[in-house]
Amino acid sequence: MTRIAIIGGGTAGFFCASLLSRDLPSSKVTIFEAGKRPMVKLGLTGGGRCNISNTFESVTDLRQVYPRGASLMKRLLKEFGLTETRKAFAAMGIEFEEEDAGRLFPASRDASQVVRALLSCARRSGVELRCADAVVAVQESATRITVRTASGTEELFDAVVVASGGCSSRGGLSFLEPLDIALVEPVPSLFTLRIKDSSLNSLTGISVPEAVVAIPGTSLRATGALLITDWGLSGPCVLRLSSYAARELHAASYRTPLMINWISFNEQEARPAIAAFAAREPQKMIANSCPFALPSRLWEHLLSRAGLRSDMRWAELGSKGLSKLVSVLVSDVYEVLGKGAFKEEFVTCGGVSLSEVDSKTLGSRSHPGLYFAGEALDIDAVTGGFNLQAAWTTGAICARSIALSFSGE
Ligand SMILES: Cc1cc2nc3c(=O)[nH]c(=O)nc-3n(C[C@H](O)[C@H](O)[C@H](O)COP(=O)(O)OP(=O)(O)OC[C@H]3O[C@@H](n4cnc5c(N)ncnc54)[C@H](O)[C@@H]3O)c2cc1C
Repeated sequence: MTRIAIIGGGTAGFFCASLLSRDLPSSKVTIFEAGKRPMVKLGLTGGGRCNISNTFESVTDLRQVYPRGASLMKRLLKEFGLTETRKAFAAMGIEFEEEDAGRLFPASRDASQVVRALLSCARRSGVELRCADAVVAVQESATRITVRTASGTEELFDAVVVASGGCSSRGGLSFLEPLDIALVEPVPSLFTLRIKDSSLNSLTGISVPEAVVAIPGTSLRATGALLITDWGLSGPCVLRLSSYAARELHAASYRTPLMINWISFNEQEARPAIAAFAAREPQKMIANSCPFALPSRLWEHLLSRAGLRSDMRWAELGSKGLSKLVSVLVSDVYEVLGKGAFKEEFVTCGGVSLSEVDSKTLGSRSHPGLYFAGEALDIDAVTGGFNLQAAWTTGAICARSIALSFSGE
């Protein structure tokens, strides 16, 4: 009997186990989970609604959504993409439904249903789950692999899948040290930005549907909805920028100027649009008539940043006033003082270097029998269901590779 260990009873680990028990029924699968309960993170995804995947319909280049690992994901998604993921979940009684931006959710909008389905699939297939038993070391022993746990057990396995998630938690990937595997330094990704500006902070709750945020002097920029919070900025475009700029922001200790384009028009488009509006409405007070779809409190804040009197009329704007207004609307700069609190969606950028893995099998290039899945790999995505899809895809590829490698035995 082929003995397989999965390190990490999380998203990728359980999905891998569910397919292994189908594709290699003669195997005995053991999941080692450091926590008391499996799949805790999966149960929290999408605010408990589980943004399980994405249609990818608006993605023209995978680098837009996978800042790390795009070319590997391109190859892997051809082998096990959305169609195969849907099929696997349909077999567990879970259908997907689409929301905006191609985001897919289980029809129940209930992450705990996904957890229960994976758990019962594992139970039915006789997968052994050992909770509260963290793996502390993995070593090669002739043709097999030894897995040592915190409780002192030491067992031999024919194949081992590393699915221990983002490296910043639970001692990271230190259990791989005996194997001398190249790791890319883990740093956080998908976080909000802390900005201390009392007039901005007083606009808490205001959102702009289509803004652009950028780090001046770099090509790092992201577009989408922007949300003002009492500690700074959040929303899809900020999370996206934090993902694109994860390494740069870490290197700068999360202190950087941040440029906001509140209207997503560029200067050449904004200037004539405002001038035409001013010509049309010369007697209207600027404070009471915004040429763009911006919330009125935000508009007042921006006028004050442009140094324009609240009782000024459009006829009084003048070319200097126009320039100041355009500048604030398209390139308003704030100082970021840090990351937001560790509460919101969060993934790790970094992990097992992709140079260590065979891009077809996700097996180690130097340690036969060792495989990698999920966030433990140096693959991570922006929000929208792409991180979970990476966990399903990489978990499935590991299962398929192990099944192929051992099915003849
Ligand atoms: C709050 C939140 C919401 C999210 N929402 C979404 C969403 O809606 N859509 C989306 O696509 N992505 C979302 N993500 C990201 C997504 O959840 C992760 O990318 C995904 O769960 C990664 O799966 P994984 O199996 O690699 O890691 P995990 O699911 O984290 O599982 C890893 C498991 O390994 C265990 N482990 C670690 N070290 C050891 C060890 N040494 N021995 C044994 N066990 C160990 C951990 O305890 C954990 O249970 C969200 C993330 C967070 C934090």
